[in-house]
Amino acid sequence: MSTPEQVPTIDHVVGGARRPASDGTTREIRCPADSTLVATVAEGTADDAEAAVLAARDAFDNTHWPWTPTPERAAVLTRVADHLERDLETVARLEALDTGKRIVEARIDMADVVSVLRHYAAVGQGEAGRVVDTGVPDISSRVVTEPVGVCSLITPWNFPLLQTSWKVAPALVAGNTFVLKPSELTPSTASWLMDALAEAGLPDGVGNLVLGAGDRVGPTLTGHPGVDLVSFTGGVVTGRRIMAAAAPTVKKIALELGGKNPNVVFADADLEAALDMALTAVFLDSGQVCSAGARLVVEESIHDEFVDELVRRAGEIRLGGPYDRDAETGPLISSAHRDKVEAYVAAGVAEGAVLRVGGERPTGESYDDGWFYPPTVLDGCSADMSCVQDESFGPVLTVETFSGATREEAEQAAVSIANDTIYGLAGAVWTSDAGRAERVAARLRHGTIWINDYHPYVPAAEWGGYKQSGIGRELGLAGLAEYRETKHIWHHTRPVPQQWFGGQEKNE
Ligand code: NAD
Repeated sequence: MSTPEQVPTIDHVVGGARRPASDGTTREIRCPADSTLVATVAEGTADDAEAAVLAARDAFDNTHWPWTPTPERAAVLTRVADHLERDLETVARLEALDTGKRIVEARIDMADVVSVLRHYAAVGQGEAGRVVDTGVPDISSRVVTEPVGVCSLITPWNFPLLQTSWKVAPALVAGNTFVLKPSELTPSTASWLMDALAEAGLPDGVGNLVLGAGDRVGPTLTGHPGVDLVSFTGGVVTGRRIMAAAAPTVKKIALELGGKNPNVVFADADLEAALDMALTAVFLDSGQVCSAGARLVVEESIHDEFVDELVRRAGEIRLGGPYDRDAETGPLISSAHRDKVEAYVAAGVAEGAVLRVGGERPTGESYDDGWFYPPTVLDGCSADMSCVQDESFGPVLTVETFSGATREEAEQAAVSIANDTIYGLAGAVWTSDAGRAERVAARLRHGTIWINDYHPYVPAAEWGGYKQSGIGRELGLAGLAEYRETKHIWHHTRPVPQQWFGGQEKNE
């Protein structure tokens, strides 16, 4: 951990220069595991956000960046990936101290960032649009793509650099300029990224960083007429606000919002694998994962044996800080977030859910200065309960059951329970019947479906939500398309007067 003398100061990056908040305000970042001070950070103002937007606007309108050959833009991403591999331990440590997550998980996240950067360095190149046949020899028609312009990129705290890379990599390779606003709780790796981009040769002003709380800098980043696109990852309530703020200037928006993701287990599944992964699905990173499998939807005939064993194993999960070798998962991000998770569990119990394990803050010296909350299972839940409908974003599993007199009825019951929230981000189905797996996967209204698995993703496959889990997609080709405008160019190579006006023929 840092000593007070070593605590870094992190400032905005505007037009290539570091600068503090215009009103001098700063914020302390403390590790959620033990409250150690890890950084002092500029707390941005509307003026800071305005300056960053204007710098990005100037870089888009008045520099060569949008017209830079794609291989050169891709090379910037490749160099940042190289730098991250070189500095991986340092950057993983920054991320672990900001989030409180285990260093082993932060290392995995950093390796994922490298993959995302390399992926977009590769797929951003080599596309030439398409030629359309006009049927006229002297007229060519082609469809090309161009950068959208200035992008506000707003990210959450749970996977800080990874969520950022999903936006920055396609935005840059497509030729956009950006203002990045990381979560005010986890700014350290975004600051590292800005240095790495500069070292990789990104021209000043193409990438800008504004730090601070959403209510201070957010309205400018989402409402300023100089911004063309807002790409946001965060909660649904903030997403609705951003959509409204972007409406008066009709900005393009991409929203990656929350989830309340069903993990459906049929009695014919490989139950040992399903049980093991049901724990990972919900308790990974203490449930602070947008795709967390926070709703177990289990066939009634196996409920008792499956849930009893799950509860037993959940009770043995060890909590600890980033460098605790015995820890299996970490703390929640903040005191306020732990309060929210606790209130969510209390509401579930008040509505009739049965608290099977967890539900109480751990006590003891190693937990007292952190925001720990144990894996918690609420059994006997149903769709009319708020604990089933609302995202807790914590280590809380709700259990619902389904049954049916026939195979079809059982599938129908599972699907209708699994689809019964406002969200549609991700879900899983566990069964050894391949036909059933495909039928259920097809009918689940979620952007990602795992069959007999949970959580893995690849940068080449799209990620995003149905329903109120979002608009648009990240990753894959669609994640690049978000950052591109489409232009049709019609070229008449032998123009001749048409005489629409002033001619005689048209009336004959
Ligand atoms: P949040 O909505 O509170 O904040 C997200 C970001 O928005 C932060 O940078 C915040 O400062 C900023 N913000 C807040 N108010 C703003 C405003 N008015 N204008 C502009 N920006 C504003 O979310 P969070 O607590 O940081 O993250 C948790 C949420 O993110 C969960 O709901 C989770 O499901 C979601 N999430 C979704 C995905 C996905 O891929 N769909 C991935 C990760 C997290």
